[in-house]
Amino acid sequence: MTTTAPKHAPMNQFPVRDHCLVIGGIPLTRLAQRIGNTPFYAYDRQLMSARVQSLRQHLPEGIQLHYAMKANPMPAVVHHLAGQVDGIDVASAGEMKVALDAGVAPENISFAGPGKSRQELSCAIAAGITLNVESGQELETIAQLATETGFQPRVAIRVNPDFELKSSGMKMGGGSKQFGIDAECVPAVLQRIAELKLDFEGLHIFSGSQNLRVEAIQEAHEKTLQLGLQLASISPLPVRTINIGGGFGVPYFPGESPLDLSATGNNLKRLLADVPSRFSSIRFVVELGRYIVAEAGIYVCQVLEKKISRGQIFLVTNGGLHHHLAASGNFGQVIRKNYPVVVGNRIGTDETEKVSVVGPLCTPLDLLADRMELSRAAPGDLIVVFQSGAYGLTASPTAFLSHPAPLEVLV
Ligand SMILES: *Cc1c(COP(=O)(O)O)cnc(C)c1O
Repeated sequence: MTTTAPKHAPMNQFPVRDHCLVIGGIPLTRLAQRIGNTPFYAYDRQLMSARVQSLRQHLPEGIQLHYAMKANPMPAVVHHLAGQVDGIDVASAGEMKVALDAGVAPENISFAGPGKSRQELSCAIAAGITLNVESGQELETIAQLATETGFQPRVAIRVNPDFELKSSGMKMGGGSKQFGIDAECVPAVLQRIAELKLDFEGLHIFSGSQNLRVEAIQEAHEKTLQLGLQLASISPLPVRTINIGGGFGVPYFPGESPLDLSATGNNLKRLLADVPSRFSSIRFVVELGRYIVAEAGIYVCQVLEKKISRGQIFLVTNGGLHHHLAASGNFGQVIRKNYPVVVGNRIGTDETEKVSVVGPLCTPLDLLADRMELSRAAPGDLIVVFQSGAYGLTASPTAFLSHPAPLEVLV
């Protein structure tokens, strides 16, 4: 190794046998043959279950755990997790259908997101799921639909807090936002829900995503609880649930290390222990997407050609940004950094070289690894991108350049 570049957090969630990565008990080369085609995404069901168990172990007892399925909406994944979490959070009527098909009870599904269409709202009301209301106007539409259909909608208020989750990969609350109802306007909306005699579930406060810092998450939890309880104390209707969001991150880039879940859970235990007893009937919910699924998934593509251009080695593969936008650095990154990438059938071999892994698209943005020190690879070898179980396939522009879409398997 000649490079002194900072290393990735160890990607040791998958075993390695004879230099080959093993996923779901199957060596990668054999899995590729079983699937019959590259590229593909593979998700390990046991790693997902282990992650849920670890959350149960470290988070306060009695707190509810929801899966935000936009992170990975593959029906088999949603079905697998449905039996292990307390609820599924959806962001469209399409996701709602997958959650219902997976057998999730409507009372355990909640639907957040701005710009819900009248038709989506109508479907959700008929399904009997909880609607996280994002604006005063949305509330009025829901009330109209209640009158028209005769069904009683269950609503929660998505609150845009007056603070944000610090050092977060993606800020979703605080300041001016398209998400939720500004905290200072919530009292009037609570009154309106009481007037309209809607079934009121509670409050939803989500401040950000992809955070690896225990102190930042603790601060957000503290302020979220404070705001939630303050609103609960002035609410004319009883608050049954407060969803305090999530935002737990996973390490992607050199220099990042995993979130300390034990410390995060202990902080939350202390905060919940301090909640005054008059609020003892309120259920608290944590909603997580990425943290549950990201590390359980890999993206796999195949080297087609090794090309040298003025001394720089390119591994040209059949995969790229059209399948995995995030790994190319074009999904929310300011400065492009490499995802953890390995040659999946040559792990730990002595011979390495500095290469760039690229895809077949006609754009220099189609880059999966930029000058990384990888095991020496040849055409036919399998390139693996770790941390690909969340915001992978469905967050990518698969139609760009009209290549076939990759397959997905849950093993
Ligand atoms: C996207 C989203 C989540 C999930 O965020 P992750 O970073 O994947 O955990 C949770 N809640 C809401 C409201 C979201 O929009």
